[in-house]
Amino acid sequence: MNSLIPLRDQIDDLDQQLIDLIAKRSALVAKVGEVKSEKGFPVYIPSREQEMIQARRAEALKKGISPDLIEDLLRRIMHESYHNENKHGFKNINPAINKIVIVGGKGKLGGLFGEYFRLSGYKIEILEKDDWARAKEILANASMVLVAVPINLTIEILDKLQPFLRPEMLLADLTSIKEKPLNKMLEIHKGAVVGLHPMFGSDISTMAKQVIICTDGRNSENYAWLIEQFTIWGANIKKISATKHDEAMTFIQAVRHFYTFVAGLHLSTQNIEIEELLDLSSPIYRLELTMIGRLFSQDAGLYADIIFNKSENLEAIKNLYQSFGQALEFLQNNYKQGFIASFSEIRKWFKDYSDLFLKESQNLLQQVNYHKP
Ligand code: NAD
Repeated sequence: MNSLIPLRDQIDDLDQQLIDLIAKRSALVAKVGEVKSEKGFPVYIPSREQEMIQARRAEALKKGISPDLIEDLLRRIMHESYHNENKHGFKNINPAINKIVIVGGKGKLGGLFGEYFRLSGYKIEILEKDDWARAKEILANASMVLVAVPINLTIEILDKLQPFLRPEMLLADLTSIKEKPLNKMLEIHKGAVVGLHPMFGSDISTMAKQVIICTDGRNSENYAWLIEQFTIWGANIKKISATKHDEAMTFIQAVRHFYTFVAGLHLSTQNIEIEELLDLSSPIYRLELTMIGRLFSQDAGLYADIIFNKSENLEAIKNLYQSFGQALEFLQNNYKQGFIASFSEIRKWFKDYSDLFLKESQNLLQQVNYHKP
């Protein structure tokens, strides 16, 4: 063991240098953040990140180091810098905005957007459930109204808002479903309207790379500034019609969340304790359980609203149930060949993505840490 001591000392020394280097890099990144904030450059510039990673991968290869290792390290370090860029605030794209009223602004998503707007120098006022007696005063002179209330209350709250809206205001919402709220907003408001769906929860540490879906209502030129503001925060804007959005969300959200709910329901009703499962789980099984378990630390009402909101979801979930039945038949009939043939067909549907997903999940698995509650 003694012969290891000098080598370990050298490694400790190099680790110290690594920390010093990361500290120096962070200081430089902070300066970049200040310039970006002042000039209004986006937090996340995909081409810059891509070029930088490709260059570092090539350099790693020349030195005989794994390019994947260097890419992982850099991505982790960059993620931290995106997070830190919030500290400098963001350029205010539209100083003509008098104030933004967030209905439901003390909630999770309303709170998150309120914080980002504040960091960008906008004046924010909140209209919460007990504030309706003061609605006229709160909404007076607002340039924009952002609705961030529970899905099942959105339509009735939009009705309540109608008397206070003026055509020069921009009306927007953050509801996870789009067609019904967007149509309602167009019905009650004569001015600019945009429906937004942030594809993330309030637990994000940075807006960089997060997708915000944008469904046009009316007068897009009047909310172009808002889209630009989101881009400066680092968000990735996807424009789509409300109908197409809702169709896609049946698969992206309703079916997936229902599937996860059933997986949790099943586990919780079997005669097994979670600790027993975890004890025998290597990182991949831990990660799979993580993806199920994280659902149940969130708001049951939100997920119920997402799953129950339209009859198309029920139809799609019935198809999922049929797929279970179809797969169960392979087992009941001891028809292994059928299972294997079906496996190949499914692989074709995934195209090259199944290989890519294997690689991506390997990267994730290296980061699985074991914590106790
Ligand atoms: P939340 O329950 O955390 O917040 C809702 C807020 O609305 C609360 O502060 C509540 O007090 C307020 N509210 C309730 N009744 C009101 C009333 N009558 N008048 C004014 N305010 C009222 O919910 P959330 O998770 O922030 O979701 C809000 C919206 O954001 C929903 O439409 C949801 O679909 C959407 N969304 C949420 C997430 C998420 O992960 N949380 C992600 C994307 C989109």
